[in-house]
Amino acid sequence: MFLKIIGKSIDGHTGFLVNVLLNIQNKLAAKAVLLFSVSVVFAAVFLVVIGSASEQARARDQALHSAQMLALSTAVTASSATRIGDFEALNDLYLNLRQETGIVGVFIINNQGLVLSTDKGAVLSDHFSQDLALARSALSREVLQHETSDIRFGFAAPIFADTGLVGVLSLAFSPSAILPKFGTHFLGNLWKGLTLIGIIFPLSMLVFGYLFAPLKELIRVTNCAATGDLSARANVSSKDEFGVLAKTINHMLGQMKASIDRAQWLAYGDELTRLANKTAFSERLRQLVDTAKAPGALFLIDLDGFKRLNDAYGQEEGDALLRATARRLREVTGRFTTKLAQSGPVPLPMLARLSGDEFALLAPGCISTSLAQEIAGEIISAISSPLDAAGQPVTLSARIGIAMYPHDASDSKTLLNSVNFAIDVAKDGGGGTWQFFEPSMTHAAIRRITLQNEMRRALRNREFIVYYQPKINVREGTISGCEALVRWQKAPGKILSPGAFIDVAEETGLINEIGDYVLAEACAAAARWAKAGNPCAVAVNVSAVQFSRDNFAQIVNQILEKTGLPHELLELELTESVAMTNPERLLEQVTPLRDRGVRFAIDDFGTGHSSLAYLTRLPFDVFKIDQSFVREMTEDKHARVIVQTILAMAESLGYRTVAEGVETKEHFAFLQLHCCDYVQGYYFSRPVPEADFTALLIKDRQGQARQAQAQEPLDFARSA
Ligand code: C2E
Ligand code: CA
Ligand code: CA
Repeated sequence: MFLKIIGKSIDGHTGFLVNVLLNIQNKLAAKAVLLFSVSVVFAAVFLVVIGSASEQARARDQALHSAQMLALSTAVTASSATRIGDFEALNDLYLNLRQETGIVGVFIINNQGLVLSTDKGAVLSDHFSQDLALARSALSREVLQHETSDIRFGFAAPIFADTGLVGVLSLAFSPSAILPKFGTHFLGNLWKGLTLIGIIFPLSMLVFGYLFAPLKELIRVTNCAATGDLSARANVSSKDEFGVLAKTINHMLGQMKASIDRAQWLAYGDELTRLANKTAFSERLRQLVDTAKAPGALFLIDLDGFKRLNDAYGQEEGDALLRATARRLREVTGRFTTKLAQSGPVPLPMLARLSGDEFALLAPGCISTSLAQEIAGEIISAISSPLDAAGQPVTLSARIGIAMYPHDASDSKTLLNSVNFAIDVAKDGGGGTWQFFEPSMTHAAIRRITLQNEMRRALRNREFIVYYQPKINVREGTISGCEALVRWQKAPGKILSPGAFIDVAEETGLINEIGDYVLAEACAAAARWAKAGNPCAVAVNVSAVQFSRDNFAQIVNQILEKTGLPHELLELELTESVAMTNPERLLEQVTPLRDRGVRFAIDDFGTGHSSLAYLTRLPFDVFKIDQSFVREMTEDKHARVIVQTILAMAESLGYRTVAEGVETKEHFAFLQLHCCDYVQGYYFSRPVPEADFTALLIKDRQGQARQAQAQEPLDFARSA
């Protein structure tokens, strides 16, 4: 998932880059094409217009020249006719000339300045007076005169004979008739312009292609990156801006590839042990069990008491131990790889660290229980060879849960549940063991869940009740107190002992509610006894879960206040393990209550493995010797010695002692002999409901009163 997100983000970023580059390319191309087109078109238009204009000017000069030559040659032709005044010949000349294109006026004057013509229409021009003036000016100057404008070209050519100047020929032309039209030049030039564009455009595309090649290369590379191929590199050798950009993009892709490789490792690998992590393991498990259906075995490996070692030696040493364990697991797995593939080619096994001190081995091909057992045995022996932590030798041990698939489960989810059931049972069985999954484990789990739900309901229905078991003062033989013990009244006449539900209540945290309820009930009962004039201390059991709550002391104080029970009539029983787990916390919780008079007892004393010397320094008032020692006292000499030792030590250190599980006269006699302070057990009374205990208490107090009157020793044991 994590990788997918990174992949998506890289795709997103490179995709963005591709878009940017494409955008640049499109914009640059558009700009270049636009600029180029405009300049080509502009040049073409310029060429066409200028070309046409200059051609037009040249044509005009040529026309003027031809007109002038015609005027001069005609003047020579008309020389004799003018000299003799041959009107007929002149009229023919006029008529001939008027056939020529563009001539709009023609006449001759003699040297007297008179027009030589019989036919008025033939001599007249459209601007006669203007032409006559020009002719007369040529007559006086005796050289060719001309006058040009947009609408007329006028020429006056002197006519010479052997006698000298005899007259002047006037010729006038219409320029529009003799000059070619502007359009003819323009069209001709336009074709040239278009041909030019036609040649230049394809050529320029080739040039553009060359210029844009590096940009195209950059786009190709970023496109590759966007589709997930981060190994592509831009091949641009030019040293221009594109070269610089290509270098930057190549560097960026290199960095991205390195980061994604690292992210991949972080997403699928365990940094500490270099094994696969839980994500990788789950994916492979799903793939092999759900998809590939490759039969095999799943081993769940849990280190015993690793947390304690970690606390004792510090995290760094703890990490080193985990690394060493991973190394050993890898060696064992390596040794079995060929054995696993004996029945044919199988996928490779996978080793993973799932959490702090929990490892898993998925072994496809491990299809026989004997091979699974062999692997488990090797793992256990590899893990248990001594290691070194902070210079001290330490020995680890592990428990292993094993589930075979598809035998125990055909899908990965059920397989995981099965292997967890198996390891739970392995945990109950002590260190250095393995346990195969069995279907009955599922039933046990279902029973636990049902029990948990039933307990919730029982709490609401107030089905939990409290029984009281008297504690007898050995010296005086009277009831000195009692222990509150919870019972579950499931149905009328059906009462469950705590052994049937306390464990599950502790696991699920329901013990908090149950415990608080018992404490409140017990305090209320003791307050009633005190109020009735029969004060009797009550001892209440406190589980580790209850005690670990920050507000434990506060809750106790609140209950005491609410019920009005004096603090010194309450005793709280904690087990050795609670006392040992966190001594600082113990002091924090115990001291404020103890200062106000609440007493504390260590329950089941002697069953934990704590150092006696250490325990005696903790803030306790009472040692409750565990009933297992009392029970075994009669037969087992060791048990007798232990009880004797505890009693002697407690006496010398000033602790009071309670022996529980006193069932026989012999038990009582031994404890009495060795100065045990209080006894509790079936020999005196079983735990009983409040009403029955109240009756016992009243009887006891009455007996005390009688004894005081008769000055006789009282023996509760005898009356029980
Ligand atoms: P525990 O605190 O060691 O309680 C003494 C157990 O020994 C009681 O069992 C009691 O009935 C039993 N017992 C007393 N005298 C004799 C005897 O002479 N012979 C034999 N064989 N047994 C005797 P119970 O009531 O079944 O309680 C079992 C355990 O459940 C308790 O052991 C205690 O650890 C836990 N427990 C009971 N009530 C509570 C409670 O309210 N809160 C918590 N947290 N734990 C409780
Ligand atoms: Ca107890
Ligand atoms: Ca006990």
